[in-house]
Amino acid sequence: MKTLRDASNALKRLYEAAERDYFSFGCFRDAVFSKNGTEKEKFFMYPNTALTDDEYNGLLSDGKLLLDGYPLQYYLGTEEFCGIEFEVSENVLIPRTETQIISRYAIENLPKNGRFADLCCGSGCISLSVLYHRRDTFAYAVDISKYALKLTEKNAEHLKVSERADIKQCDILNSSETEELISEIGYGYLDCVLSNPPYIKSSQMEKLPDNVKREPALALDGGECGVDFYGSIADISREVLKPGGFLYVECGWGDEDLVTDIVKARNFSAEIKEKQFILFTKR
Ligand code: GLN
Repeated sequence: MKTLRDASNALKRLYEAAERDYFSFGCFRDAVFSKNGTEKEKFFMYPNTALTDDEYNGLLSDGKLLLDGYPLQYYLGTEEFCGIEFEVSENVLIPRTETQIISRYAIENLPKNGRFADLCCGSGCISLSVLYHRRDTFAYAVDISKYALKLTEKNAEHLKVSERADIKQCDILNSSETEELISEIGYGYLDCVLSNPPYIKSSQMEKLPDNVKREPALALDGGECGVDFYGSIADISREVLKPGGFLYVECGWGDEDLVTDIVKARNFSAEIKEKQFILFTKR
């Protein structure tokens, strides 16, 4: 008869053989156990709990899936961002810790009753975290993927911010869709635009770590130089922002100067706040 302890030992052997450093063994085991209905406390208090063969094999095959590079966040279905739990799925980029820089800046700097847009919103983590922490604000959350927008909608409902979120589908690289978006939002109407667009260079897509390769190419591939989206983001921002309004973007490592040039050419002043994070102000 197999027990929880046997399963833990078998997972440990798998973990060590895989030589993965995505997560610690404790985090790995807790995830596999809790997803299969055994909270970590139960394992520590009752390690001799009996498992059926199916239960035991299920734990091990989940362990293999994760060690094979399947992202922990997709496996658990959630990721924390700005102190909030977001639902995530294979249709969206997993929110990254560093991207919180954008939300935090907007939370601190949006004027009272501020209105803003989040272009390429994915799970909605940027816009919804701002709406959640700033109850006086209103957001447009925009993405090309209807699956991403469904998830944004679900997250907005869960966080009870739906009434202040206008969730819109738009391919921002398509000029007629972009024009429509601008006229729907309105000219000179927003206080800020936020964006973490796809910015991985196409040639790098094949070289990404196994876990990142499981994320949608649509959310990662920023074209040949990784900067395909910034011109359009700046074009939209120039129209929808009030004078003095700001645009805060994330970009690829080392792409700061190129992105600065692209956006500045659209009549913005620029300030590199951190590596990969640039704040632009509409002149
Ligand atoms: N930061 C992500 C990564 O490192 C990429 C996100 C993006 O393309 N916007 O994989």
